[in-house]
Amino acid sequence: MRTARVGLRLTPAQRRRCFGLLVAAGDVWACALDMNRWRRQRGLHAITNFQQLCRELHKAGPGAFGELNSTCAEGVLRRYSEAWFATAKRRQSGDATARYPRRKRRLLPVRFRYRYFAFDGQRLRLATARGCPPLWVRLDRPVPYPVEQVRSVTLLNEGRRLFMEVTAEVPVATYERGCGPDPGRVAGVDPGVIHPFAVAGPGGEGLVVSGRAIRAESHLHLKDTKYRRRKMAARGPKPGQAGSRRWRKYRARQRKLEARHKRRVRQAQHEAAKTVIGWAVQRRVGTLVVGDPRGVLDLKAGRRHNQRVRDWRVGYLIRCLKDKAEQAGIRVVLVDERGTSSTCPACERRVPKPTGRIFTCLHCGFSGHRDLVGGANIARRGPGGPITTKTKFPVVITHRRAGRHLPGTGPARRDPRRRPHHGTVNGPIGRPRPAPPPSGESLALRGSTNDGQTRPTKVDAALGSRIPG
Ligand SMILES: [Zn+2]
Repeated sequence: MRTARVGLRLTPAQRRRCFGLLVAAGDVWACALDMNRWRRQRGLHAITNFQQLCRELHKAGPGAFGELNSTCAEGVLRRYSEAWFATAKRRQSGDATARYPRRKRRLLPVRFRYRYFAFDGQRLRLATARGCPPLWVRLDRPVPYPVEQVRSVTLLNEGRRLFMEVTAEVPVATYERGCGPDPGRVAGVDPGVIHPFAVAGPGGEGLVVSGRAIRAESHLHLKDTKYRRRKMAARGPKPGQAGSRRWRKYRARQRKLEARHKRRVRQAQHEAAKTVIGWAVQRRVGTLVVGDPRGVLDLKAGRRHNQRVRDWRVGYLIRCLKDKAEQAGIRVVLVDERGTSSTCPACERRVPKPTGRIFTCLHCGFSGHRDLVGGANIARRGPGGPITTKTKFPVVITHRRAGRHLPGTGPARRDPRRRPHHGTVNGPIGRPRPAPPPSGESLALRGSTNDGQTRPTKVDAALGSRIPG
């Protein structure tokens, strides 16, 4: 199953109806919460079984939730039921921090199952409640899958923008004989902050994907958010006061930027994963051994490092890689990555973790790229054993960048959130221009004419002085 997010081109009326559906879905969720609270207060057991919830829904009758189709409403109830049972399971296994669904949300995504939507080119028809006309929306790009493979579409909002998530069943890629990935060829993947993926492959080949653009985006967004919070804090409504229109605008702007940041980072992480899979397919690597650092991330490591780890979103990163690998017919094995960046791949002895990017062994003199050394050590922990030869490693490194669409990655597009260069307070961005002439010699103020007479300058005019002529 693959999912792509597609934007929508909507008329104001369509937009209103779409938001109506999202609100109705939020209402269904809130009703389930309210009903169960009411039941608990009266000593009745909560209704959490999906079939029973559906029965309650149908007691409410048609039209109770605006234009929302009853199948879509059932989808919301299924989500509620699944969340409830997942929590129950976690609590049973001794996790006391797991909490049952309790939070109401105004808008909730609406999923349209198979046969409750139909494509007509870039237009999409969505089923609504009985008696309501169907809702037609226009997508802003063609769906990247064949229409007959699409299994469901989900209407959702991010900030104030509406999107359609299209989920399709895509068959695993097929290759010509002898060209497909070979499960015996193993590569080790070391996820990192600076390099989202460093891959050590067979034959001493390596791939390093740079994520500096992603990190810069996170930094700038954090700084921007802090600044905005400080400015907004003084203008917020006092307790008991309603927010002003200006306040609402601030909030909307903040949500918009938050959504944009999330989109940008997500896009870059998908690009990074795609690069790795492309590289692996080219080299017929059939097994990717991925180091999973999530076991050690819960440790407290100070606020700076915690922030770094939070921005990293390594779970999402690994999930991207897994999805794309599965699609390409490559197996992914997760292993514990503890100690892989401080072990020598040649003599297998422990050395102090390097502070820079170069790994050097004190015992045998081996030296190589730190993250690729990690990748090679991770590959050893998976099936297939070590991949490195005792000779030079890595032999070839391919460098790729993730997030080339981000502002500020090229000299032509400086990120507006970044402070100006040293030396120019609000100076121009781009190529250097000739320095302005020294003061007093500006051509604009000289005012000499052909007949040799001087004209009154602006300063003279302001002072009211007259020049006889
Ligand atoms: Zn060594």
